Amino acid sequence: MNILVLNVGSSSLKFQLIDTDGAAIAESRDRRIARGQIERIGGEAIITLSAANDRPRTTTEAIRDHASAVEYIVRWLTSAESGVPITTIGEIQAVGHRVVHGGERFNQSTLVDDDVWNALEGLIELAPLHNPHNLRGITAARAVLGPGVPQVAVFDTAFHHTLPESSYIYAIPYQFYRRYKVRRYGFHGTSHRYIAYRYRQLTQRTYDQTKIVTLHLGNGASACAIDGGKSVDTSMGFTPLEGLMMGTRSGDLDPAILDFISAKEGLALRDVEALLNKQSGLLGVSGLTGDMRELLDEAAENEDRRAKLAIDLFCYRVKKYLGSYLAAMNGADAIVFAGGIGENSPSIRERICAGLDWLGIRADQTKNSGLRGGAEGRFDGDGSRLQLWVIPTDEELLIARDTWRVVNGAELP
Ligand code: ADP
Repeated sequence: MNILVLNVGSSSLKFQLIDTDGAAIAESRDRRIARGQIERIGGEAIITLSAANDRPRTTTEAIRDHASAVEYIVRWLTSAESGVPITTIGEIQAVGHRVVHGGERFNQSTLVDDDVWNALEGLIELAPLHNPHNLRGITAARAVLGPGVPQVAVFDTAFHHTLPESSYIYAIPYQFYRRYKVRRYGFHGTSHRYIAYRYRQLTQRTYDQTKIVTLHLGNGASACAIDGGKSVDTSMGFTPLEGLMMGTRSGDLDPAILDFISAKEGLALRDVEALLNKQSGLLGVSGLTGDMRELLDEAAENEDRRAKLAIDLFCYRVKKYLGSYLAAMNGADAIVFAGGIGENSPSIRERICAGLDWLGIRADQTKNSGLRGGAEGRFDGDGSRLQLWVIPTDEELLIARDTWRVVNGAELP
């Protein structure tokens, strides 16, 4: 079954076309047919497309809105010059959508019917920065492909539905949970779930035996404590702002700071929150960039003090979360790194693991430095009690597989 996977942001759209079915899932031989992204929707868009393993080609063209973006992609996929082995729109048999917030109701991937659609609209107030765009993607795909093509929503929050109360309740008056569902939800769930699945596959462990800490370190970053195969704690909370320091997000901070900055700078609270989302984290501390690779270069070449400080802070906070999750779970069997930083930066991994030998964590420098650019493998050293892994995440694959399962009534793992 050819499944179009869509990840729609405010002005961008990433997609993959993946061919999968029950047998392909069981044998891990799903086929990636095409991929690409359209950025700066609403203006002169930058379009990057590639079929299978071809080199990506980039063009620019005016793209008005998300529906035009989906239309563009479908036209390209079915065209002769794309090199993609489909020729008609009917060969796209289902669409899997990344939806950031599933609230308390959606604890697994689901077919989007009218009832689900209404529920998703109701969730917009919980995720005003993300869900409206995800819904726009569903509307666009339905308009372009027709109502007969099933649309499946795969939620970032769903994997964390197993969080125990003690990790999802905030220590504020309980009625805010009861009245408004103010609680910790956790995000990046599709990534943490994929990493846990792949770890099981690589180590021949069962679901119940999966006791690990997963670190998804990209522009957005989160940690997850997984015990008995289930998410038992995670660093993002009511929104993706809580937890680790990120590219442009502050992560944890004293909430009293909001009012203080608001008063000092004459900013509305909403503007302070925007500042914590978009101008903080690595960018805010360094004053240079939220891009870790650029910061590492800056620190190495120019010894920039604040670039170094931003990197130190980032690593220190990951280390603290790691320690707290090992305490929460009474240890773990492995730590797994993923995301753009986790997959590509041996030096950041080394700093996070350094000084944790009392916990039985020992990295092997040679193995660590060989893991980058999409490589998968272990880098724990002799005598390490915990395994250390790099597992490149693959949210799109999981979205395609869940879409197949939902459309075919197969059990969701
Ligand atoms: P997103 O969360 O947007 O999907 P990614 O997972 O692609 O982001 O991660 C992007 C981050 O990964 C950026 O900070 C980028 O600098 C960082 N990154 C990518 N390659 C490297 C590298 N070789 N060394 C250090 N950081 C890297």
